[in-house]
Amino acid sequence: MNRLEHLRVALAALDRDHLRRIRRDNQRPCSPRVLIGGKEYVAFCSNDYLSLAADPRLAEALAEGARRWGAGAGASHLVSGHYAVQHELERRLATFVGRERALLFPAGFMTNCGIVPALVGRGDAIFADRLNHASLIDGMLLSRAKAHRYPHLDLAALERLLAASDAPTKLIVSDAVFSMDGDVAPLRALTALAERFDAWLLIDDAHGFGVLGPQGRGALAEAGLPGAAAENWRLIQVGTLSKAAGVAGAFVAGADDVIEWLMQKTRTYIFTTGSPPALAQALLVSIELIEEGEARRAHLAALIARLAARLAQERWRLLPSRTPIQPLIVGDNAVALALAAALMDEGLWVPAIRPPTVPPGSARLRISLSAAHALEEVDRLAEAINRLESRL
Ligand SMILES: *Cc1c(COP(=O)(O)O)cnc(C)c1O
Repeated sequence: MNRLEHLRVALAALDRDHLRRIRRDNQRPCSPRVLIGGKEYVAFCSNDYLSLAADPRLAEALAEGARRWGAGAGASHLVSGHYAVQHELERRLATFVGRERALLFPAGFMTNCGIVPALVGRGDAIFADRLNHASLIDGMLLSRAKAHRYPHLDLAALERLLAASDAPTKLIVSDAVFSMDGDVAPLRALTALAERFDAWLLIDDAHGFGVLGPQGRGALAEAGLPGAAAENWRLIQVGTLSKAAGVAGAFVAGADDVIEWLMQKTRTYIFTTGSPPALAQALLVSIELIEEGEARRAHLAALIARLAARLAQERWRLLPSRTPIQPLIVGDNAVALALAAALMDEGLWVPAIRPPTVPPGSARLRISLSAAHALEEVDRLAEAINRLESRL
């Protein structure tokens, strides 16, 4: 067999294990009402929690941004690809999350896999929740620091690992809201451990930013962090601008000199072209809409409560989650796929998430709610799942 034939065998194995992934081409802008191959579905898939991605005010700001700033940045931020509107956005983001300074990135994935190696290196140690996002895991591998992965949310295990480590620099890394489980990390306890063991603490709030906390300031603000010591230099936070904010990009925020260091040393920042400045123009409007988004967040909370109230949860159970990520644990890969397919037949689109994205035996439907869903659409989904629960 040549190398290409090896690939084909491996692809066939993906089919056999129900692990091959496909894309569907939506013929409409982002919303829960999607059109695929001419057929309409109600989708419970996106991270567009506040329904801003296709908001006409953002589209207009983006168009205005493009007229004013053109399409591209032309160079990396540190050469000549940094623009006044991006500086303004960074200041707005820093104020919004209550930190001294923020640094804008083209994507969350690049932020995480770049800043971890800028903080720790060979001989140092990282302590990471087992269910952290792939971008944090890849950053950990790139850093060459010793990786300690603790069981999900198990702070006693984390504490033992920290106590046993004599690494000169320690870094604790955790998602704030876990992307496949929807649960929230114990942020105050993590901060206390970082303090006690003299470690950096990196919190990725990709799914909390815009959704949790006062005015959507995020999971850390909800937990009262960084608190009075806004300059709490140990705490480094990442937020993405591609999920609730509805556009693209991400930022890292923290104490002034920490952000300065990250700007100097993060390879995924230094060696990539700056993001298009027009996006920053749209994001300034997005932050305003997030800040004023109390009604959207209240509706999301009503949808979350309605789903739990309407699902029978006999064989398949919702994980305890108060975020718009509502995972229904099915267990078996093939059953999860059959369930997703049966829902699709009824015009309901919910992704089945399988290993390796989640641990083996925990295949699930990842129901994701958006402020644009109607209560009746959640009822329709719950009713269909309840019917299929006794049939599949
Ligand atoms: C989506 C996500 C990212 C990546 O952000 P992008 O802007 O989409 O690259 C990082 N961390 C977490 C936890 C995420 O869910």
